[in-house]
Amino acid sequence: MSEDGLAAAVADLSRLAHARGWALGTSGNFSAVAGRDPLRLLITPSGADKGTVAAADLVVIDGQGARVAGSARPSAESAVHLAVVEARGAGAVCHTHSVWSTLLSEVAAGDGGLAIEGYEMLKGLDGVDSHEHAEWLPVIDNTQDWAGASRTVTEMLRAHPRAHGFLIRRHGLYTWGAGIAHARRHLEVLEFLLEVVGRARSGPTA
Ligand SMILES: [Zn+2]
Repeated sequence: MSEDGLAAAVADLSRLAHARGWALGTSGNFSAVAGRDPLRLLITPSGADKGTVAAADLVVIDGQGARVAGSARPSAESAVHLAVVEARGAGAVCHTHSVWSTLLSEVAAGDGGLAIEGYEMLKGLDGVDSHEHAEWLPVIDNTQDWAGASRTVTEMLRAHPRAHGFLIRRHGLYTWGAGIAHARRHLEVLEFLLEVVGRARSGPTA
């Protein structure tokens, strides 16, 4: 896929996440790897409304988070995207501030993570072929200094090599995939599961 095509796909994914209520206003950010050597990461810029962001709004950063193309400021959470790309070899990264990830990250913080098991939808995650799979989404503390905390993110990813995502306390969800379509599938599956777990814990809804 050309870099322009990839930028259009990242913008499409951002608008989809906004439409689903997972990245309202300027919250969340989305990225895709446009080149590996040297690294070029297309990412939604700081302050971009995810409901209207366009391909031309995206910026390109290098492996150190410096802007190499585009006119806007890269997201403050670019360092987390870079950590995921490096630790997991991801080709695309999704970050949402959904209601259920925000609520459950607080509920699960005391345990260090959220266990999700026994649901058919788990089979939408890479390498999972049974509803009996137990997915563990680690929870890390929130911060306003992600550049300083990127080592913590990398260590958490190494400590949980089978995790398909992680939560930031009272903040949101990160997930990723080999490419845009793959990352989008993981986002849809995990957001579905978080809502199911959250609603189940809230009691009967009938
Ligand atoms: Zn965020």
